[in-house]
Amino acid sequence: MYLHLDMDYFFAQLEEKRRPMAAGKIIVVCVFSGRTADSGVVSTVNYPGRALGIHSGMPIAFARKRAPPADSIFIPVDHEYYSQASVQIDRIIRNMCAKVVQASIDEWNVEDAIAEGKAPALKEKIRTALGLACSVGVAPSLLGAKMAASKSKPDGLLILNKAGERKLIGRSDVEKVPGIGPKTAEALRSLGADRVDDISKLDPLVLVETFGRKSGAWLHDLGRGWYDSGLGEEKGQEEVSHMGTLKEKTRDPYLLLSKLAELEAEARERLMHMKKSYKTLSLIFVTDDLRSHTKSVSFRNPRAWNEDITKDKEALVREFLAGNPLDIRRIGIRFGNFLDLGGQTTLF
Ligand SMILES: [Mg+2]
Repeated sequence: MYLHLDMDYFFAQLEEKRRPMAAGKIIVVCVFSGRTADSGVVSTVNYPGRALGIHSGMPIAFARKRAPPADSIFIPVDHEYYSQASVQIDRIIRNMCAKVVQASIDEWNVEDAIAEGKAPALKEKIRTALGLACSVGVAPSLLGAKMAASKSKPDGLLILNKAGERKLIGRSDVEKVPGIGPKTAEALRSLGADRVDDISKLDPLVLVETFGRKSGAWLHDLGRGWYDSGLGEEKGQEEVSHMGTLKEKTRDPYLLLSKLAELEAEARERLMHMKKSYKTLSLIFVTDDLRSHTKSVSFRNPRAWNEDITKDKEALVREFLAGNPLDIRRIGIRFGNFLDLGGQTTLF
């Protein structure tokens, strides 16, 4: 069985959690661009905010118009805090389940013979350990599990057998299926297929002509109720990074490198789980004026997760100090540009 776990309004829920005084208020997590006080977009909003029509991607200025100032809090995104929570959730899931793929900062895909038995315990464990709600779907296919999770939101749990899965997917509007984008959905509608079941009435040749061989075949199978097996790739995660604040602002290379060593250890644990090698190493420096600077090196041959990077770190720190006269307040390390480690990925 497959299980999909999706944290509910993750960033906003985490912000709610550390502000118990704000219970019931509208919480809008924002990406401020810094150009003017309100320029930027909404990243995530909690349910009271959604009820007023505030949604992610909306300009902050629009959200302000909808949210009564006395009842709402606008907060800048705090990726460090969110990714720490994500790491904790990841550990819980990996401790309890057989095969796990993290799909994004707040979504996981699991393959486990007894996923339906584990699902309630998994939700409970995340609630007790972190005080957070999530939605979980379990089904014979990953697609079914994903759609069950989103159907059950918020704080839901939906377990489907083969027949239940077929019914949920078959009756769904085509644009609600993960993997069907707005363009494809529009084309399907113009062919007369509003719901997934309708696709089975379309001529397979027309599907292939319209969408190409690969997508056409996938859509044909979808209409018939033949869903892909397998967990898929760890796609959502494009990089692993860890940031930290220095005890005091400094330009001392020794202090910078020892903080980096701490952050690197945490980042490496993630790389190890993901079985990834990487081609780009970056160091991030936040200077006294709160500006953030990145120094990167890209390797011709990918580096394995456990390869020594002492020399590369030293060179990047030196390069930064030579080009910038300010003290450093925060520092971070980022591994990016991932490749699968050959031979270690599972074939289904
Ligand atoms: Mg989510």
